[in-house]
Amino acid sequence: MNQTFWLTNSLSGKKEKLETIEPGKLTMYSCGPTVYGLIHIGNLRSGVVSDLFYRAFQKAGYEVTYVRNYTDVDDKIINKANEEGRSSEEVAAEFVIEVEKDYQSAHMLEPTLKTKATEYIQPMIRMIESIIKEGKAYVTETGEVLFSVEDFQGYGKLSGKNLEELEAGARVEVSDQKRSPFDFTLWKPAKPGEPSWDSPWGKGRPGWHIECSAMIHEAMGPQIDIHHGGEDLVFPHHENEIAQSEAACGKSPFVKVWLHHAFLTFNQTKMSKSLGNVFNARTFIEQYGGELARWMLLSVHYRKILDFSEETIDHSLSALERLYEAKLRATQLKERRTLRPDPVKESVWGEFVSQIENYKKELNEAISQDFNTPEVFSVLFRLVREFNRIQSTEGMIDTPSVSLAAECFLNFIEKDFGEIMGLGGEEPRAYLKFLGEIRSKRMSTSGAESLSSDEIEVLIQERKDARASKDYAKADEIRNHLLERGVEIKDGPQGTTWKYV
Ligand SMILES: [Zn+2]
Repeated sequence: MNQTFWLTNSLSGKKEKLETIEPGKLTMYSCGPTVYGLIHIGNLRSGVVSDLFYRAFQKAGYEVTYVRNYTDVDDKIINKANEEGRSSEEVAAEFVIEVEKDYQSAHMLEPTLKTKATEYIQPMIRMIESIIKEGKAYVTETGEVLFSVEDFQGYGKLSGKNLEELEAGARVEVSDQKRSPFDFTLWKPAKPGEPSWDSPWGKGRPGWHIECSAMIHEAMGPQIDIHHGGEDLVFPHHENEIAQSEAACGKSPFVKVWLHHAFLTFNQTKMSKSLGNVFNARTFIEQYGGELARWMLLSVHYRKILDFSEETIDHSLSALERLYEAKLRATQLKERRTLRPDPVKESVWGEFVSQIENYKKELNEAISQDFNTPEVFSVLFRLVREFNRIQSTEGMIDTPSVSLAAECFLNFIEKDFGEIMGLGGEEPRAYLKFLGEIRSKRMSTSGAESLSSDEIEVLIQERKDARASKDYAKADEIRNHLLERGVEIKDGPQGTTWKYV
């Protein structure tokens, strides 16, 4: 391997040199979405980040086996299916297709294997049987199989949680059949109307955590190199995956390197469904396109919070315009034919071409340092600036070597930067036109015309109603929402008045 990766491993909390189980090969798993609706932009971040890892490892020469799952049996899916009078298979199948559309828009590559939980029920049952045999799980009177955390040495090693402290802080339910409050479900009896499978413990369905352990084991064996997911999955999901896999297979560590990406905020507020600010990925892609969505998601290091705001969108928009203007210029210069060699100009372009090799090294170095994407962008723009500087200098494009230099520059954008980042591959003229349209739409909606007076009146009425029912939080939310859309309201003796600001 000519490239050494240094990755922040959540298990140790340290940046470690990557040494795979088998030299030259790499096994990687990423927890995918539960398919009961369109994914939000946070789920898209998860997909794009794991796709970045996959691309970077492949580009570095690893023979990568990358598995990503779909959770297609879950309470949320069952509830939705029941509400709509459909089967949960139908709901899950529909949204697998929808999620894949968004993934494709965001230029995500096909993983080696995409698994669905329901296709791995037998491996899950076999794994649960092994855990019971090892004395680390038990069957309750009601036919539920629970993992016994106290019987597993090292529970808490990923999240840094200590079982005694956890238990001291836990509420104990009297009716609970758990031996410890942190024992978790491996298998549960199915209620009427729920999908169910035959098992040694009666008809039932698996708990959520067991699916990833079983799919990983089935597809890649008892130990893998990389496991990725959102930081919200560290506890309990990933902690439980470790417990299950290590208890069943007796191999430790189950995962060599755990990679977790940080969450998203929306204008500095933690993104949550209750706030109503979950930005659906489809809406975003329809408005801004997949290239911009991906650019924005990679503009912040995966371990850092990404604040999803108008400003972030603007930054990405400007950066893309800068890149594609340079790309357009290079495309034109590549075709330029001039027969008057000039030794001075030749040497300037020659130097530019040889410098590209250094930029490639810097780019690979940035990626191998824990996927430092902000640094990758900075390397790209240093080269863009250099290209712009030379080509705009008087007379510099009147020399034969300009076309070779432009071609090398384009190669850097499309191959070196593009293949790792999954960006830069759009046709420049058409794409710049598209960006221009986005920009003019944003200009016209960012100002006073963003809301019609009818829409404003409706919101003011809603706020009045909220105040009348003493829901001041909601009332404030409406006021802030209006302000964000450029409308200021004022309460006076004649009621509420408003103006565009
Ligand atoms: Zn998982």
